[in-house]
Amino acid sequence: MILIDGKKIAAELREELKKEVSNLKAKYNKVPGLTVILIGDLTPSQIYVRNKEKSANEVGLKSDVVKYPDSVEEKVILDKIQELNNDETVSGILVQLPLPKHIDKKKVIETIVPSKDVDGFHPMNVGNLSSGYESSVPCTPLGCYLLIKKIEPNLSGKKAVLIGRSNLNGKPMAQLLLKENCTVTITHSKTKDLKAECLEADIIVAAVGIPELVKGDWVKKDTIVIDVGINKTDKGIVGDVAFEEVSTNAKALTPVPGGVGPMTIACLLKNTIDCFKRLADK
Ligand code: NAD
Repeated sequence: MILIDGKKIAAELREELKKEVSNLKAKYNKVPGLTVILIGDLTPSQIYVRNKEKSANEVGLKSDVVKYPDSVEEKVILDKIQELNNDETVSGILVQLPLPKHIDKKKVIETIVPSKDVDGFHPMNVGNLSSGYESSVPCTPLGCYLLIKKIEPNLSGKKAVLIGRSNLNGKPMAQLLLKENCTVTITHSKTKDLKAECLEADIIVAAVGIPELVKGDWVKKDTIVIDVGINKTDKGIVGDVAFEEVSTNAKALTPVPGGVGPMTIACLLKNTIDCFKRLADK
């Protein structure tokens, strides 16, 4: 079984991005900039944002975090986004989710100009991705896609089973794999026989949020298994895949932690650089 070392692959990607930033600096005399808006004091969000900032600095991006208290008015956030939309030094804008209840997530996402939407959540980017046009792609599925391609460069004709249909994971993942000519099945909480679906799969991507849902006897030999889940349990953080059981069967498997997580952040940096390049080319 191949243990897919997301930490190592993400570090390699960051190295490539660092070189790219240096080349862009030489060409344009400026570097891509990422601004993250952080609202409230949720500990996981603060940790995510700190990691994003650290990684952005490591590859040489200009990185800013704008912090607001939980009580901030929605209008303040929308006005700030408009200001960043018009700021030439900002290539990418990310508003860390979840948001306090009084702030409308849809409004926030739609206020970010699509060309700076590094999360790929704006309906324009979602539509472009599903139409096969150039767009920002949500960071986690993009990271999963790059990991799968490392193991199997030619995905044409492979059967992919995605567990979970969220806008964040399952749906964009399906678009990426369709583009690679996979036959894609998206399963969800109402799927009748998830085990039977999984047993058909050459590729499984689990993004559910249920600890160790995917069992060893759900996976046939030669399947690539990508575990997106991050679940806090009594025995620590585990994924959506029963790691020990599945590792005896699968061709390749991501660990949790150290699999998809580091790729998500590296892909955010990649998206920021890609946004910069698209704006610079205009
Ligand atoms: P979500 O709650 O938005 O979606 C979960 C999906 O799972 C839904 O589509 C639901 O229909 C499906 N589902 C629920 N029960 C099911 C069942 N029994 N069988 C099949 N499908 C079922 O979750 P999300 O935001 O997509 O996140 C999923 C997991 O991925 C979470 O554990 C989250 O913490 C993790 N996550 C990790 C990263 C990362 O960088 N590694 C990024 C984002 C999310």
